[in-house]
Amino acid sequence: MNTKNIYSYSLSDLSAICSPSFRAKQLYNWLYVKYEKDFLAMQNLPKTLREQLSQEFSAQNLECIAQEHSVDGTKKYLFKTKDGHTFESVFLKMKDKKIDQNGKILESEKYTFCISSQIGCKVGCAFCSTAKGGFIRNLDSGEIVEQVVNLKKFNKIPPEKRVNIVYMGMGEPLHNFDNVVKAIQIIAELDGLSISPKRQTISTSGISPFIDKLGELKLSVQLAISLHAVDDELRSQLIPMNKTYNIENIIEAVKKFPIDTRKKVMFEYLVIKDINDDLTSAKKLLKLLNGISAKVNLILFNPHARTKFQRPDIQKVRVFADFLTNKGLLATIRESRGIDISAACGQLREKKIHLDDCVSHETTYKTTIKE
Ligand code: SAH
Ligand code: SF4
Repeated sequence: MNTKNIYSYSLSDLSAICSPSFRAKQLYNWLYVKYEKDFLAMQNLPKTLREQLSQEFSAQNLECIAQEHSVDGTKKYLFKTKDGHTFESVFLKMKDKKIDQNGKILESEKYTFCISSQIGCKVGCAFCSTAKGGFIRNLDSGEIVEQVVNLKKFNKIPPEKRVNIVYMGMGEPLHNFDNVVKAIQIIAELDGLSISPKRQTISTSGISPFIDKLGELKLSVQLAISLHAVDDELRSQLIPMNKTYNIENIIEAVKKFPIDTRKKVMFEYLVIKDINDDLTSAKKLLKLLNGISAKVNLILFNPHARTKFQRPDIQKVRVFADFLTNKGLLATIRESRGIDISAACGQLREKKIHLDDCVSHETTYKTTIKE
């Protein structure tokens, strides 16, 4: 039977289906606060509605077929869609809980979910392993939302716990504009997951007309630009789409983008050994971002098979970062997380997972990785 993905429905969409409309809020509570996936178990809904929902809809559209845990707390989940494609989502523990001698919590854990927006990608960046697999299809809004629900459920994250979402998994989010925007809105719904767009970051390779379009929606979503190069010649070699939407177009679009006064646009700069790791590039970057409320996140290139690029020398990256910071441009170096399980940026899909044992997400899967 062909069932519809319940996570593609906003609260107002569901209010039109469930009557009276307060039933939609109850349903949202089951789905997003209790993480319940079985409609028949939603006790406070009338039996007829439960039966109707379970015939027409599904809350099990992504099957977790494997998971891997890194020593640093990062977890990678391999999901299979109903039409048999696979993609990954990554759970990142950014900070551990800090407790004093008396057991008082000084600082709670911080989690970030790295979510996929497409299966594969059309952009074809020279350094990215996702690009090597080509493009298969867009994820629909429900498949995007369900990743967030599953990561919360699998990790027993209390509903009220704040988490951050980054659209930095597989795919180019702005190439799947409508589905990503709808997902952002569903994820932000106060009666549901209640993750504000301010906690959701879209990372893009820089499709300027869509940056404009996103800005016009005034969603308060955060923006990250994968810049990676300061001149068009190099950027076009790294990101072929730069021939259509070049650095100047991107900077113009960012200048127009509505930014929360307390926030900054993040410019991601992938540092590749002997390609863009020199101080001349740092100086050009400083000039390029002059007048923009920006911060720079330096990403050390994560090597993978089928690439000639190399990881830069960390000392050189520190010199690059210090130069920017000393000139007043905030620059951080992104810690590579989950590198031992290929969950770090650009490494998704690089290894094939062969399952020995996969029963439910509660099970610790035995996986063997073959290159
Ligand atoms: N398509 C979007 C979001 C997904 S990629 C984008 O390009 O922004 C998320 C981030 O991973 C991007 O900044 C991308 O440039 C970076 N990335 C891709 N391959 C990488 C690699 N091998 N090492 C480190 N970062 C990589
Ligand atoms: Fe696509 Fe981003 Fe990878 Fe480029 S870096 S191929 S835009 S996923």
